[in-house]
Amino acid sequence: MRIVALASGSSGNAILVDSGDTRILVDCGIGPRTLKTRLAPLGIRPDEISAVVVTHEHSDHTRGIPTALSRWRWMVAGSAGTIRGLSAECRQTATVIRQQLRIGGLDIDLIPIAHDANEPTAIAITDRASGIRAGIAHDLGQPSDALIAAFRGVDLLCIEANHDAEMLRNGPYPVFLKQRVASGTGHLSNDQSAAFIDAVSTRELRAVLLLHLSAVNNSPAVACAATKRGINRRARRATLAAAIRKATSPPIGDHHDIQFALAI
Ligand SMILES: [Zn+2]
Ligand SMILES: [Zn+2]
Repeated sequence: MRIVALASGSSGNAILVDSGDTRILVDCGIGPRTLKTRLAPLGIRPDEISAVVVTHEHSDHTRGIPTALSRWRWMVAGSAGTIRGLSAECRQTATVIRQQLRIGGLDIDLIPIAHDANEPTAIAITDRASGIRAGIAHDLGQPSDALIAAFRGVDLLCIEANHDAEMLRNGPYPVFLKQRVASGTGHLSNDQSAAFIDAVSTRELRAVLLLHLSAVNNSPAVACAATKRGINRRARRATLAAAIRKATSPPIGDHHDIQFALAI
């Protein structure tokens, strides 16, 4: 299984999960043309994607779904609250995930998270053929014990590192927005992200990709440095990088970790 962030951050999010036989997206907040361009170097066409699993209804995660749906007939799946927040045409054919959903060779579990949306979720994915487990979580104010339990022992971890707390405090955002971002239903700081990585890491952890970095209150270098400082020795053995906001990030997963480490 390989995981590739095609876009990450407030300007759009889309993550490809590719088991070889099964290809899905987690969120699609980019338009069809951008999607096509970013998939091309990976040797994948949009019509080879079978489903988009949606973490929550905010437009930076869903903007591209209506057009993609009409063009490529993907399955759209997510929590009941998330589906309720999608456009009428998406709602008509969407699948509500109540328990585990099986898409091809992938098992998908949703874990409720705290964020200011209808029913936001993180996503745990198991590739049945290889046994590889991945956890993907972005847009969360604070991690719950249930999320830590669900992600503990994953091989591949994609976790939000939205802002540096100091940069947010001293930065240009208006006060209400600073409060919203830092709140328990806002976004994870670099330090919170490091503590989360620590809490879920076991010997299995091979790669960590930091997601949804703020362009104003963070940078890849700041996020990676803070995370490295904050995690224990066991977690430090995993490769670590930050997703690129408006381009395809280097893949993590099968045979890709070396390339990924070089990209730090
Ligand atoms: Zn977002
Ligand atoms: Zn959001």
